Amino acid sequence: MPLERVKLLLVDDQPANLLALASTLESPELELVLAHSGQDALRWLLKEEFAVVLLDVQMPGLDGFETASLIRARERTGHVPIIFVTAVNTTDTHVTRGYRLGAVDYIFKPLVSEILKAKVSAFVDMFRKNRELKASEERYRAVFSAVGEAILAVSDETERILDANEAAVNLFGYDRRTLVGLHLDRLESESGGGPAVQGFDRYLRRKDGFLFPAEITEAAANLDTGPARIVVIRDVTERIQAAEAEQLREKDKMQREFVANVSHELRTPIAAIKGFSETLRRGALNDDRNRLRFVRTIEAHADRLSALVEDLLTLAALESGRDVPHPTVVEFEPFARELILSMAPLSGRRRVSVELDLCAARLYVDAKHLSQVLQNLVDNAIKYNKPGGKVNVSASLDRDYLKVTVKDTGIGIPKEDLPKIFTRFHRSSKAKELSIRGTGLGLNIVKHIIEANGGKVWVESGSNEGSTFHFTIPLAKGKIPVAAK
Ligand code: ADP
Repeated sequence: MPLERVKLLLVDDQPANLLALASTLESPELELVLAHSGQDALRWLLKEEFAVVLLDVQMPGLDGFETASLIRARERTGHVPIIFVTAVNTTDTHVTRGYRLGAVDYIFKPLVSEILKAKVSAFVDMFRKNRELKASEERYRAVFSAVGEAILAVSDETERILDANEAAVNLFGYDRRTLVGLHLDRLESESGGGPAVQGFDRYLRRKDGFLFPAEITEAAANLDTGPARIVVIRDVTERIQAAEAEQLREKDKMQREFVANVSHELRTPIAAIKGFSETLRRGALNDDRNRLRFVRTIEAHADRLSALVEDLLTLAALESGRDVPHPTVVEFEPFARELILSMAPLSGRRRVSVELDLCAARLYVDAKHLSQVLQNLVDNAIKYNKPGGKVNVSASLDRDYLKVTVKDTGIGIPKEDLPKIFTRFHRSSKAKELSIRGTGLGLNIVKHIIEANGGKVWVESGSNEGSTFHFTIPLAKGKIPVAAK
């Protein structure tokens, strides 16, 4: 692509001199404009943009210096480089006067064409570079102001805003002149801190004090004024509101499901109790063969009811902070063995065998809590097992903790249910499919309890391979056994 032609203004009252200059400088890249007087030159300068003006000093009427001072005096032309063309025998004061007028250079007559060309081409290059720079700056400006995203340039040194685009002005509500120069502090919310809800970086403050959640992207930039950063700000109020609404809907849905679930769970034993009581009242009381069986069934259903209510109360107490751990030193091995063996009737009914690989350990834990956890996990391992299946409870020391593992050969937990398995009321699709009774509260209670006692609980499962639950409990290092107090 040929270079765009650059204009040069040659000013001399002598046509012969002008022609000599023009023929020396002639080139396809340059457009030479000839002016025969200072007045003429000024007229041209108003109309066109020149890379440089070659100005003869000795002219009748307006001489070179007078013309130069008029050029400098005008805003539009004040910065145009001027090369004075003058005789060699000029005195120094002459030259100084020219420099004071802002001449950039001198060329002495008689002209040496190489020097003339070299000087002119330096100015032409400079002009071209400036023009490119201006074009790219204009492009940058255009992008900066046109994008919908709010953008600030912020000085790393002073933390003040160096520049702001239209979108930033609109977002923060300051007028441009106030926003530029403002300390970044003024846009931060005083509470600062981390995000209150996930999904955005922090709250920012508008001029009217209103806070909005913002997503912020920063990039380092080296500006003329020093190191700075370009900060792109996105107001994510709508997105956060949508997420919160979704969360509320989700919670609401869970509550409704919970109520439905609990009602369903309550209805079965209530119906059974009511049905068998009625049967007894209507004559079965005298049925020697069956009455005891009916009473036992009523009792079993009442137990189920009470277990459910117990779970709900336990959860309510844990969540409200009424049930805090009262840790003591517990000898794990005998404690766990006795507890798990007491569950033999359940495992026997389900034809599930329970193995123990325990180790001796002194724990610092709330004993009632520990039994709730073991009971829950082993109960699940039996309940979600297959006839003839196995449950293995093992324990090993792991630094300052005892790690307990409850492993079963049961129905397993589908991958998609794993992340939610400890959340309240969550029951796996598989458990529902197989109509295994439950409220989905047990594991949530387990998690609450373990964490309150300083441990962790997690699960591994591959469908068809059974499930493995692990939990940790702190060892009673240096803790004095209650009995020895
Ligand atoms: P519940 O057993 O009353 O439903 P839990 O909170 O104890 O409630 O368990 C939540 C869900 O996790 C269960 O409904 C079941 O889907 C799944 N689950 C828990 N333990 C096991 C296990 N050992 N094997 C397979 N699934 C399990």
